[in-house]
Amino acid sequence: MSVLVSVVVPMYNEADVLPLFVARLRPVLESLPDETSNGSARYEVIAVDDGSRDQTPVVLQRLLREWPQLRVIRLRANAGHQAAISAGLWRASGAWVVTLDADLQDPPETIAEMMALARSRELDVVYGVRTDRSSDSRFKRLTARAFYAGIRAAGATDAPAGAGDFRLMSRATVDAVNALPETHRVLRLVVPSLGFPSATVGYRREARAAGSSKYPLTTMMRVSVDAFTGFSLAPLRLATWFGLGGFAASVLLLAYAVAAKLGGYTVAGWTSTVVIVAAVGAVQLLCLGVLGEYVGRIYSTLQRRPAYYLAYDSAAKVPFERDHVPSEGHD
Ligand code: UDP
Ligand code: MG
Repeated sequence: MSVLVSVVVPMYNEADVLPLFVARLRPVLESLPDETSNGSARYEVIAVDDGSRDQTPVVLQRLLREWPQLRVIRLRANAGHQAAISAGLWRASGAWVVTLDADLQDPPETIAEMMALARSRELDVVYGVRTDRSSDSRFKRLTARAFYAGIRAAGATDAPAGAGDFRLMSRATVDAVNALPETHRVLRLVVPSLGFPSATVGYRREARAAGSSKYPLTTMMRVSVDAFTGFSLAPLRLATWFGLGGFAASVLLLAYAVAAKLGGYTVAGWTSTVVIVAAVGAVQLLCLGVLGEYVGRIYSTLQRRPAYYLAYDSAAKVPFERDHVPSEGHD
């Protein structure tokens, strides 16, 4: 292993905040305990430019010249926060990998604390947990709470409450995530689902240092749908439950119809009609539910569309070919 810590930073139109971000991140990384006696580098920073349309690539090129530990990756189009992190994880070489936002909402100083905890307790994952979200908008907190309540009710995760995408992962964890075939991953559910030894570190969610949030409601909804379909068959299972309920109801109806017939309270033909309609309806729903289960499984297996395409990598040995779309792994 040549690098101790890789820091993966997804960024989309973050030119305003980048200088502030670097000024805070760099001292933290330079002062990490140096235990790399084999001469390996202490850290690398992988900035994933998620197809920014502002000055972000220009600022990154300037930074490249004065910061040897920086590696810049640019995606061809805006692929989204999660895909950008995935692109960085795929290329991170560190024994430890930290993912954090570029907007300084996740304080870089916490990285040292995460590292110390992970090493002293031999953990695979240390989650940054927001103990104070007062800097987030009311709407953001409310929707976040609703999302986690829903996903928990569906039994899809046991992720620590308040954990976002600020986390430290061991090499084994990153390898495990990279090896997963799914492309549209929601990492805050994927990582806990591995069940590796983990702990949490609390931190205060700061206000964005500059620029504005890149997470409109539509994106939040798309990530939520990805989370549900990726981690839960509960929506599909609803049909099965309806079917079972319908089946139970039709059995009761059958008993009632037969009793009514025996009691002689019916007109001819009523019993058979009701029983047939109820039973067939129930069986149809049940079959639909079962079908849904299988379609859901096939669907998730087939979802191998790449989550992003690469446009540039500052660490590429040969000049990057614009026409070449790499197909390695999830790229
Ligand atoms: N981001 C990204 N691609 C996107 C949207 C966001 O790489 O399509 C980055 C963004 O630059 C930031 C992080 O993801 O570093 C979190 O985004 P943001 O701060 O806008 O989200 P919020 O904190 O408002 O939830
Ligand atoms: Mg933010």
